[in-house]
Amino acid sequence: MAALGGLAFAAADDPGVPGVTAPRWKQHDIHRPRPQVVDPGPAPAAPIAPPGDAVILFDGKSLDAWETPDGKPAGWKVSDGAMEIVPGTGAIRTRASFGDVQLHVEWASPSPARGVGQDRGNSGIFLMGQFEVQVIDSYKADTYADGMAGAIYGQYSPLANATRPPGEWQVYDIAFRRPRFDASGKLVRPAGLTVFLNGVLVQNNEEPWGPTSWLEPSPNDPTLKKGPIELQDHSHPVRYRNIWIREIPERSSPPPARAGIPVAVGLSDRVLDGYVGAYSTGSNPGELAWKISRDGDHLLLKLPFKPVPLQLIPVSESVFVLPHTDAELTFRKDDQGRVTGLFRVGDGERPLTRQ
Ligand code: MG
Repeated sequence: MAALGGLAFAAADDPGVPGVTAPRWKQHDIHRPRPQVVDPGPAPAAPIAPPGDAVILFDGKSLDAWETPDGKPAGWKVSDGAMEIVPGTGAIRTRASFGDVQLHVEWASPSPARGVGQDRGNSGIFLMGQFEVQVIDSYKADTYADGMAGAIYGQYSPLANATRPPGEWQVYDIAFRRPRFDASGKLVRPAGLTVFLNGVLVQNNEEPWGPTSWLEPSPNDPTLKKGPIELQDHSHPVRYRNIWIREIPERSSPPPARAGIPVAVGLSDRVLDGYVGAYSTGSNPGELAWKISRDGDHLLLKLPFKPVPLQLIPVSESVFVLPHTDAELTFRKDDQGRVTGLFRVGDGERPLTRQ
């Protein structure tokens, strides 16, 4: 317990990630420092063109990709290539659901600005319907730091205040990784969010510990693998345009035969010593030699441009491989006892000749 200003505080466990003990700001703490103001430069003259594989969620004309949370037609108005929140009609969300994504959104605060604090051009973009990247008018306007434009609402304040004046187009580029849970529902990897606001990094692979919320943290839902992109109606006529998304594929895992360190076959010292020496690589006469030495039951390869020798694991009497690289060195010995080698890495090969 610590006493501060007459109040007593007990150290609290973090609500989300096990093992995380770093002190964490309370949600919406008005004492949390505001980020530095950064001028992002002029707004783009036109919507930024999407890449070829993007799914267009809003092209400036149609709300077909959107609906209300209870499945009714989206009630926001579309004009001049933008959609505008009609206060009171409620949030809208994509009909489609997404997990890991890259998301591009352009938005503009109402102009002239009205209201103060959270009551000023407030809206928000919810990834998987759960994680809000805040949309609000933060241009020369103050509110609590984790509720500013670029905030992961209630959790991470933005690293910079890179907003433009109300009425000007602002650009979010968001990379989102969904949280991962094991079969028992335990969180094994938190969600990840990287956000650029008007080209300025405002969230650097931060890890929300659960869905964002107003007041008190919300619990994770381990059953959710995908969810809609939701735009918040916070009773302010914020505008949006040019919304597109790219689904990010899972990284592949290697099959067992392509992973792990190969098991060495036992070779005699005589066989191993037969390959020791300095080798020219053939391609360039000026290139320094590759040197092979013996270290117990395997060989070492010393390259002129690497300070530490590499282990060569024997997988047959004449073939040696690197432990963590798709590379192998195959030796050949001719009738006169001359030793050559062929070093293959990935899709490249280079011949070696012992000097
Ligand atoms: Mg909001």
